[in-house]
Amino acid sequence: MEVKPSIKKAIFLIWFLLVPAGTWFTYKTYPPDIDGQWLGLLGFLLLTCVVATMPIVINNMFIFLIQWVALATFLRFGLFVEIIFAQIAVVVLLLKLRILRKGELYRMPVNLNMFFLVSLTSGIVYYMLGGKPGPNFAFDTKSLWLTLLYAVVSYTMNQIIVSFNLYFIYKSKESYFGKDFIVESITTFITFPIGFVLYILYNSVGSLALLFVGIPFVSLSMIFRLYYSSEKINGYLQKAAEIGHQMAERLKVDDVVELLIQKVSEMLPVDYAYIFEVDKNDELRLVRGIEEGILNDLPPVKKNQGISGMVWGKQKTFLYTARKEWAQHSNGHIPDDAESILGVPIVRSKKVIGVLLLASKRKRAFEKFQLMIIDILCSHFAVAIENAKHYELTKRQSEHCSLTKLYNYRYFENLLTEEFERLTRFERRTLSLIILDIDHFKAVNDTYGHQGGNEILFELASRLTKLVGGHGTVARYGGEEFVVLLPDTQKEEAFQMAEQIRQMISNWPFTIRHSLDLEKPLQIVMITASIGVATAPEDAEDSLALIRHADRALYVGAKRAGRNRVAEYSSC
Ligand code: GH3
Ligand code: MG
Ligand code: MG
Repeated sequence: MEVKPSIKKAIFLIWFLLVPAGTWFTYKTYPPDIDGQWLGLLGFLLLTCVVATMPIVINNMFIFLIQWVALATFLRFGLFVEIIFAQIAVVVLLLKLRILRKGELYRMPVNLNMFFLVSLTSGIVYYMLGGKPGPNFAFDTKSLWLTLLYAVVSYTMNQIIVSFNLYFIYKSKESYFGKDFIVESITTFITFPIGFVLYILYNSVGSLALLFVGIPFVSLSMIFRLYYSSEKINGYLQKAAEIGHQMAERLKVDDVVELLIQKVSEMLPVDYAYIFEVDKNDELRLVRGIEEGILNDLPPVKKNQGISGMVWGKQKTFLYTARKEWAQHSNGHIPDDAESILGVPIVRSKKVIGVLLLASKRKRAFEKFQLMIIDILCSHFAVAIENAKHYELTKRQSEHCSLTKLYNYRYFENLLTEEFERLTRFERRTLSLIILDIDHFKAVNDTYGHQGGNEILFELASRLTKLVGGHGTVARYGGEEFVVLLPDTQKEEAFQMAEQIRQMISNWPFTIRHSLDLEKPLQIVMITASIGVATAPEDAEDSLALIRHADRALYVGAKRAGRNRVAEYSSC
């Protein structure tokens, strides 16, 4: 959700008006109690900064566990020091997280304002109700209770301001009282007692207390981080396996490619994505590219040329976190605003068959472990693509005639059934069928040989395809018989088309390059064809009847009537 510039400005203004003046007021009203404890003060500042750089991350949410140090700082040095330290902690944390990208600087004052208000309210409540600076809890039970109240007020204020920010600044519609809220509440209440212990221990053993409490805390945070990162990697691995299964189920090459691009973009912050394939000329050819829309073309890339060529040539994965790391390798095809790049070779049987290149406008957008995940996905992808290609080829072969490259009878039969179903569902009004049989083709074979006959069949197929175009589907019915299926075509139109076909055959000679005559292999041959036309529903109520009736028109109406003519079913 983009925050309005006016709101961003207001947030900065609030900080300037509120924080310096408020801090000065605190200094005057509740002067800090430091006397001679400069080393301790420095130790507290150090601990604040260390803890600030170690937020724990749960579900991509950063949980800032600084409150316990703030409590000890407040009790020991007073409100003024605590306010200053909290402001420093926010700056350290946000710089460490590197989330302040262009236009997001306003997040700094959002948090600074929030921490200031939380510090100020809880501190003032403590002092107003009679809490002492630097209390000795052994004698001062009132301050002990007020310390508890301080923790409660600080927690409550924090929650109120966070929900206010979510609602008014980020305009978030999600409920604030979700899982994140529970996690944050629990961790806050667990860490407050640590602050309490730190304060008491500091009073008795001095700066050593910072080590006694700081070391276990920092160690635990690190263990938690390790645990969380392995959990995260597990999650990604699981997702990768799932995507692998999904890819394996897709039968079309385009679908597999689409799925990979879509899933990878969901998993990682990808702005630009490219899938290349090593083609027959030993060049990388773009299969699919996404750059603010779909990118259809890029010049082919040679081995070791540009970043994708390098991924291919070196057969290695590459991860760049910023533009300056890869700019000298680029061949200029990657958009100007790209920063992070992740390149993975797609390998099958130890051979690179393609390259996946992902880019993000953000610096450090991809992590090392994600490279491994994408690498795994690419292995699944390589297998899935091979299977899909194999499937597509087998399907194409099973539906086409190898001589003429037209659809074969098997395909035509299925198509005819489907079209008839559409007709019965009233999705089509008419369905016409043209059947064509070459006249005296046996004689052509006898004169010029079978190879010569084949050449004629091939040329006739391409003439038919060109003439029919998008009006219908041409298929080889058998031997020297062809069919044209014309959906939503009335009988008259079908008849006209059949007549055009007839003329296209009889008026234009065919060329045979490999005739039986060795001295004159090139021959010019004139042929004719007889054609039958039938249309459903007027001539037939089912698909077999339509074929039968068109066939009848062909044999009775055209062949018997003298060949080289068109006949329609009803007229015979
Ligand atoms: P008409 O249809 O005019 O009655 O005579 P026709 O000679 O065309 O009829 P017929 O059905 O007797 O012969 C068809 C011929 O087509 C027989 C066969 O040799 C030839 N033929 C069928 N399939 C092929 C093919 O794939 N290649 C070649 N070269 N010839 C084929
Ligand atoms: Mg025949
Ligand atoms: Mg024939």
